[in-house]
Amino acid sequence: MKEDFYDILGISKGASASEIKKAYRKKAIKFHPDKNPGDKEAEENFKKAAEAYEILSDPDKKARYDQYGHQAFENGGGGGGFGGMNMDDIFSQFGDIFGGGGFGGFSGGGSQGQRRVKGSNLRIRVKLTLEEIAEGVEKKIKVKRKKQAKGTTYKTCSTCNGTGQVVRITNTILGRMQTAAPCNVCGGAGQQIDQKPSNADAQGLVVEEETVSVQIPAGVQDGMQLKVSGKGNDAPGNGISGDLLVAIEELDHEKLQREGDNLHYDLYISISDAVLGASKEIETVTGKVRIKIEEGVQSGKILRLRSKGIPSLNGYGKGDLLVHVNVWTPKTLNKEQREFFEKMKEDNHFEPNPEKNDKSFFEKVKDMFS
Ligand code: ZN
Repeated sequence: MKEDFYDILGISKGASASEIKKAYRKKAIKFHPDKNPGDKEAEENFKKAAEAYEILSDPDKKARYDQYGHQAFENGGGGGGFGGMNMDDIFSQFGDIFGGGGFGGFSGGGSQGQRRVKGSNLRIRVKLTLEEIAEGVEKKIKVKRKKQAKGTTYKTCSTCNGTGQVVRITNTILGRMQTAAPCNVCGGAGQQIDQKPSNADAQGLVVEEETVSVQIPAGVQDGMQLKVSGKGNDAPGNGISGDLLVAIEELDHEKLQREGDNLHYDLYISISDAVLGASKEIETVTGKVRIKIEEGVQSGKILRLRSKGIPSLNGYGKGDLLVHVNVWTPKTLNKEQREFFEKMKEDNHFEPNPEKNDKSFFEKVKDMFS
C-alpha cells in the first residue's frame, strides 16, 4: 500500500500551496543525500517527499490525486516503485523551492552541458533624414568587429576537461553542497586556444572592418534601437557572435517638424493671398505638392493633408501633414502702401467679425490632438 502524499509531507489535506512548499522544503533538507551519505532510508524518504511535492504542488495533479488517490497516476502498472522521478528531476525542482542556484546535481552530471559563449555586442548610431524615415532605407555601415582569426585551432580545456563547468564543494546550512560554476579558464565553452596567428588576441580574434547592410523600416523614431543579429563581435571557439545594435538618430528637417507620425509645416502667406486666395507649393517628405488656399482664409487655420505624414512603424496607415497657415504682416510700408491701408481702416468691412465656426487657435489645437 502506497503512503499518502499528505502523510509523507506531514500536512493535512487542506494545506495551502505555501504550506505544501514549506513542508517539502523541511523534508528535503532533512533527507538530502549530501547530508545523509550512504543512508538508504534517508534517500527513500527524500525521493518520496519529492514525488509527493511534485503532485501536490501542481493544482491539476493535486485535484486528480485528491479525487482518485494514487490510482490517478498508476496507468496499469503494478504500483510499487516511485513514479517516473529520478534524482535529476528532483534537483531541477529545487530552483523553484530554494529560489534558484544553490544545489547542483550529485556528480556534475553534465545535464547543463556546455555553455555557448556569446560575443559582445557592438553599438553604432545612424543619422537619418525625415525623408529616409518616411520611405525606409538600407544603410551600408562600416563596422570594426572582432572576427575569428583564420588559422586558430582549439583544444579541450584542461581545467574543466571540456565540460565547461567546475564543481565546487561548499558547506552550507543544508550540509555539504556541490555547486557547478562556469569554468573561468575557457569561459564555459569547454575549449581553449591551441594555436593562433600572431595578430590575433588572446581569444583568437582579430579586428576587421566590415560593411554591414542594415535595413531600416519606415517609421522609426529618434532613440530607437535596431538589432542586427550576429554582426557584433565574434565569440571564440564554437560560440555565437554578438549583435550589432543600431541607434536611430533623426536629423532635423528644415521645413517639417515631426510629432509622432504626424508632420507640421508652417506656411506663410501674404495679406493679399489671404484675401484673394492662392495656390502654394509646400514640401512634404515625398516631394513638393501644391495646395489651394481658399480666399478669405484666416491666419492660424490648419489644413490637414491626409496620409502625407510618416508611416506607422507597425504598418498600419500613415500620419498626416498639418499645414499651419500664417498670414504675414509687412513690417515696413512706403507712402503709397500706407495710404492704401489707412483707407481700409476707415472701411467697416475690415473690422474683425469672427463667425461661430472660425475657431480660436486653442480650439484648433484641441481638435488636432483629439
Ligand atoms: Zn574550461
